[in-house]
Amino acid sequence: MSKESLANLLREERHFPPPADLAAEANVTADAYEQAANDRLGFWAEQARRLDWAVPPTETLDWSNPPFAKWFADGKLNVAYNCVDRHVEAGNGDRVAIHFEGEGGDTRTLTYAQLKDEVCKAANALLELGVKAGDRVAIYLPMIPEAVVSLLACARIGAPHSVVFGGFSAEAVASRIEDAGAEVVITADGGFRRGKANALKSIVDEALRRVTGVRTVLVVRRTEQEVAWTAGRDVWWHELVDRQSPEHDPQPFDAEHPLFILYTSGTTGKPKGILHTSGGYLTQTSYTHHAVFDAKPDRDVYWCTADIGWVTGHSYIVYGPLSNGVTEVMYEGTPDTPHQGRFWEIVQKYGVTLIYAAPTAIRTFMKWGDDIPAKFDLSSLRVLGSVGEPINPEAWIWYRHHIGADRTPVVDTWWQTETGSIMISPLPGVTDTKPGSAQRPLPGISADVVDDEGNPVPNGGGGYLVLTEPWPSMLRTIWGDDQRYVDTYWSRFEGRYFAGDGAKRDDDGDIWLLGRVDDVMLVSGHNISTTEVESALVSSPKVAEAAVVGATDATTGQAIVAFVILRGGVEESDTLVTELRDHVGATLGPIAKPKRILPVAELPKTRSGKIMRRLLRDVAENRELGDVTTLTDSSVMELIQRKLPSAA
Ligand code: ATP
Ligand code: MG
Repeated sequence: MSKESLANLLREERHFPPPADLAAEANVTADAYEQAANDRLGFWAEQARRLDWAVPPTETLDWSNPPFAKWFADGKLNVAYNCVDRHVEAGNGDRVAIHFEGEGGDTRTLTYAQLKDEVCKAANALLELGVKAGDRVAIYLPMIPEAVVSLLACARIGAPHSVVFGGFSAEAVASRIEDAGAEVVITADGGFRRGKANALKSIVDEALRRVTGVRTVLVVRRTEQEVAWTAGRDVWWHELVDRQSPEHDPQPFDAEHPLFILYTSGTTGKPKGILHTSGGYLTQTSYTHHAVFDAKPDRDVYWCTADIGWVTGHSYIVYGPLSNGVTEVMYEGTPDTPHQGRFWEIVQKYGVTLIYAAPTAIRTFMKWGDDIPAKFDLSSLRVLGSVGEPINPEAWIWYRHHIGADRTPVVDTWWQTETGSIMISPLPGVTDTKPGSAQRPLPGISADVVDDEGNPVPNGGGGYLVLTEPWPSMLRTIWGDDQRYVDTYWSRFEGRYFAGDGAKRDDDGDIWLLGRVDDVMLVSGHNISTTEVESALVSSPKVAEAAVVGATDATTGQAIVAFVILRGGVEESDTLVTELRDHVGATLGPIAKPKRILPVAELPKTRSGKIMRRLLRDVAENRELGDVTTLTDSSVMELIQRKLPSAA
């Protein structure tokens, strides 16, 4: 971004007060903001008491060596005990922890008591394999209950896990095993996706031809496909884990004991290995799940549709909901298998009350058509969450209307792998929500929007999102690279965490996320956000999805190039392009009109569903493509390149 701050072009007037019944019984009310503002550390000390500590902490934050934080440092706890055993001890062992739905329709139900037994058996198995506290375990599994069990078993014995998304290549698996120095890998023969059995074990085999140091591969049998077997290294889960004792005494670990390493999604470049620790992370995932979803363990059925391979899966499939003793749904497959109504069928079947999904999925559902969710009974839903990208106002409205029957609050939650937990989000029983805005830092969180010099922007202005105080679930470092941690996050603005995202404040002071600062376009001296132009395009009934980049231009500095996916039945033509350019001009002003609009069939996305604009910029400027290792489908880029022979 240049000296000038980010232009604030999009005007959004719609807003929706919280439903009265939800507000009346909300887990968190407006006074939490005030309480936390008066005594932030006291507020977090109180939230830490949501957990069971073997040794309760007397210290809250140690910030004597910034930016290396310690939270609750003299406390000791066992994370897995907090996620399972204590619910059983409290008499809730019969409550369902996980309703598992396989892609092919097979199901499994695990109560908290059963989950505890499974976690203990897996922990005993890892101990038998010689895994000790501090040893790293790589996990490469499909979305099956053993994934949750594996994470918790590692946590239980203090062995940091490093989960690799089950769709990644051997190269990505190898580099993550190597970076973490893992000696044990947990995988499966395969998993079911789009009606087929995908192979996982063979990818691990290939990865292990590239890295040394792995002595054991523990293999879950899921698909029963043939697998190659390395004697002395490979062990079947059902042979080793099933014969273990369901008793295991959970040893307490220091609050700052490493819990896991997880790589960022790689939207902006090579993924970073983010390190999270135990007490602060669990405190904030637990609190935010309770606050943002208003989760009630005795009645709610919660479903986070993310994969466990992303931070959303770690914090909001495993640690947040299970530490709160909530019943959740876990689904193995894709939203269109065997039909495009699968998600809504699952909501109906389990009576899901709280759902957490990504804008990419919501835009896809919009594209598939309103009639699909309309066939199912979705009346159990009471809070709808969104995470991963800015949600375009039209997608937000669609979600609220077609999924939430105009009744449910939509909570747009901003956070990152690095933040560990939700940071900026409405509270469903408190906030007057606005489509497209994450709105306000949660109680106990301090965020700001600043200009190039680091000065807070006034209401109505735009700039860089920063976090101005340390928070309990913050990353502690980049694994093995303290200097990169300091340089990446703490050097741009003195004493503040630089998130890498652009944002603006509206006239009420609410925060709107505007996309990556790397993606901001500079057109004739104006900084324009990709998000605002994309949202303007998506607000046309003819566009399902849009990605916008700034390409070098001789006259304007940069010119806006838009790639759009048209809605079903809309024909591509020159008149349509003119119509869309004019639509953007009318919505945001002439400065934001794209110079070129290219209808495409698909957009390049990370495996976690985020648009990778940097690759589109590479294409638009005729450069060689940057790091594509986290791209879902490389053929997408070839199709787009063909569409754009020379844009530079
Ligand atoms: P990398 O850091 O490797 O480029 P990444 O940033 O995509 O990858 P994640 O940690 O998975 O990796 O994603 C966090 C980012 O996702 C945020 O910095 C932000 O850009 C975007 N994001 C997440 N939630 C929201 C949201 N509710 N609104 C706007 N943006 C969001
Ligand atoms: Mg990032």
